[in-house]
Amino acid sequence: MAGLLLADALADRCSVVLLDDPGPPDGASDRGLGIAARGGLDSPARLKHALPDDAEPLWRWSGRAVSSLLDRSEALGVSVDRAGTWRLSLGPDEAREWEASATLLDRWGVDSRTLTADQVAAEGLGQGFDAGLWIGGEGRVDLQALVAALRARIDGRVARRSGPGAVVATLGGVRIDAPDGPLDAEMAVIASGAGAPSAHPWFGPMILPVRLQGLRVPGAQVPGPALVRHRFEAWASDPGGLSFVGCRWAEQPEMEAGVTDDATCSPRVEAKAREFLLRHHPALDLSSAHAWSGVAAWSCDGLPLVGPLPGEPRVMALCGWGGWGLSWIGAAVDDLTAAILGEAGGDRLPHMLRPRRMI
Ligand SMILES: Cc1cc2nc3c(=O)[nH]c(=O)nc-3n(C[C@H](O)[C@H](O)[C@H](O)COP(=O)(O)OP(=O)(O)OC[C@H]3O[C@@H](n4cnc5c(N)ncnc54)[C@H](O)[C@@H]3O)c2cc1C
Repeated sequence: MAGLLLADALADRCSVVLLDDPGPPDGASDRGLGIAARGGLDSPARLKHALPDDAEPLWRWSGRAVSSLLDRSEALGVSVDRAGTWRLSLGPDEAREWEASATLLDRWGVDSRTLTADQVAAEGLGQGFDAGLWIGGEGRVDLQALVAALRARIDGRVARRSGPGAVVATLGGVRIDAPDGPLDAEMAVIASGAGAPSAHPWFGPMILPVRLQGLRVPGAQVPGPALVRHRFEAWASDPGGLSFVGCRWAEQPEMEAGVTDDATCSPRVEAKAREFLLRHHPALDLSSAHAWSGVAAWSCDGLPLVGPLPGEPRVMALCGWGGWGLSWIGAAVDDLTAAILGEAGGDRLPHMLRPRRMI
């Protein structure tokens, strides 16, 4: 989706070729839940602990990312839910962390409200949670509809090629080796998800594929979207049913890291997912539930990689989103577009997302 969004943003202002390898594995954008929630993997409190000076700017930037994505989806006629999202706590440590986060969010002017365990249950969000936090300005987008709308929108405006590309820097430009012949360009943007290492060797030690497994429960509706245990579990309902992703810890210690096979599902992860859902939503009927999986691209420090590669200013990264790319991509595409076109705002990209942080 990052490639489609960028191609759409650039299409009428420069000549763009979109090269896409259809896989396998399928792109993560064909498999995601569509939850747009700020902050990547971390709560405000954890971000503040890890990045004392950068937590607030990063959170604000990710707020812009969520708004940009929801606005763009709406403009394309894609169904969007802006009712906010829930963080639910399992255990007193997590509850304390979200309490501290609520204080930070209040200070940062973000609309949020905390819930006790009883209130969480009364809202129908689930049983057995210690506390909850609702965060406004977030929500859910129909991701598959968004991808389809973007594909239709660039049709006829962007040249498209199918197959894997490999980018090589040349004097004054880049060459992209594609199956149907090389392409010479002024610049290349690598938005290849878990396939980034196949597009450029710099990503070899930087990007790791991680399989995420989910459970689809047709017809089921529960309030949400909800994110639990630092987002290792998340779920959201849409008009057709409930989608749940999580319980990777069932496969400890590797947690599905390094796995690119999205055609099979782990029975252990599925069993844990069913157990988890029934523990917290005992009234759910899982008899027609089925498992599926998708491959996400994790960067080695957990933050996205956006901007020029060190020493290769004409090769740009737009990848490494982990399990939350949909939530980051909007602002990354806006800022990268401005940087590529030399427009105002081209320097707004947070420094902790730039690939040069790795050296
Ligand atoms: C199960 C699951 C649930 C998720 N749920 C959410 C969610 O609720 N909210 C959220 O914010 N995020 C979610 N994510 C993450 C989000 O879906 C991804 O971060 C986002 O879709 C990544 O988009 P992308 O365009 O970077 O990558 P992709 O959609 O993976 O697209 C990359 C494309 O590049 C192609 N490619 C690979 N190598 C090459 C090459 N060498 N040359 C040319 N093309 C190449 C691939 O085939 C693919 O088509 C989820 C991910 C998974 C797997």
